[in-house]
Amino acid sequence: MRCIVVDVGGTTLRTACWDADVQALSGVRRVPVRGTGGLDTEDVVGVQRSVVEQLVEEIELVRGSAEGLGAVAVGVAFAGPVTGAGTVTGAPTVWGGGGPALPLAELLRERTGMPVTVVNDTTAAAWRYADPGGPAFCLFTVSSGISNKIYVGDDVLVDAGGHGGELGHLLCDPAPDAPRCDCGGRGQLGALASGRGMLAAARRAARAEPGAFAVSRLAELCAGTATPPQPDDITNRQLARAAHEGDPFAVAVVRTGLAHLATAVSSVFLAAGIRRYVFVGGFALAVGERFLDVLAEELLRVGCFGLTAPEIRDMLVLGAPDDDHCLIGMGRLLGKRHQASEAPLLTK
Ligand SMILES: [Zn+2]
Repeated sequence: MRCIVVDVGGTTLRTACWDADVQALSGVRRVPVRGTGGLDTEDVVGVQRSVVEQLVEEIELVRGSAEGLGAVAVGVAFAGPVTGAGTVTGAPTVWGGGGPALPLAELLRERTGMPVTVVNDTTAAAWRYADPGGPAFCLFTVSSGISNKIYVGDDVLVDAGGHGGELGHLLCDPAPDAPRCDCGGRGQLGALASGRGMLAAARRAARAEPGAFAVSRLAELCAGTATPPQPDDITNRQLARAAHEGDPFAVAVVRTGLAHLATAVSSVFLAAGIRRYVFVGGFALAVGERFLDVLAEELLRVGCFGLTAPEIRDMLVLGAPDDDHCLIGMGRLLGKRHQASEAPLLTK
């Protein structure tokens, strides 16, 4: 069974073909999304229309390619909350705040004449790691923001209205001047423990402790852009690399964010007993195993009632070091649904 898989993010739209028989992607294509890049606009409806047009064009392009020949379904992973019927209820990174709910699955079905499934992008990513009959897990994406999804009992937990998996909006710092989240709220997990949040924290720390920053590996990595390196020269790439290498300054910054992430992980564990946490997203993967080591230390500090230190560390794993989580997960989800729809015929 072949299908067309699409991943719509804030900046990039990816398409590919998924072959369920060999469980592989082919013909991955990346183009910039015709959105606002996260900026608010007066004409949200116009932007929504141009994103739909682009999706139709890209789907038809794959359909007409050698890889797309014989594709029987389309799956779209979308960066925003999505209802069970495939309606996108918000997409701040694609078309900014506000705008009406967009019945994307229905619109694409009408335009392409194919069966279309639309789910949230983190839901799609979770399906990549889903193992039918396997253990429950919670997937966290740590990139410019934070999102999560829980897989349990052969399904990803999202209610019909698209709620669930929004720990990025968990309030962690109640200070009135705490960093602001995309949604407008302050002090939420996504503003503190995301790549963007930790970059802001690194710049604040470099300003507050210029002496410590000056002798850090992070400052050494920033050198070349200015002499001596300035706090605003720090980038996410340099911060992640310095932390990966064990620079005490960078690790201390990352720890401030991971202390909050530990609170979120501990809450999921304490509430649901989930013992497997998969971390994906550019920042987490760039810091690597040290990301998990520091998170485990912070989890030990906040506590996971009933678990020992080695048991806590064993709960944490990194996902695959690529950017194909949503495409592969979407393909696996469509394969599973296709199989379920064929099953009654086979038993006749
Ligand atoms: Zn928020």
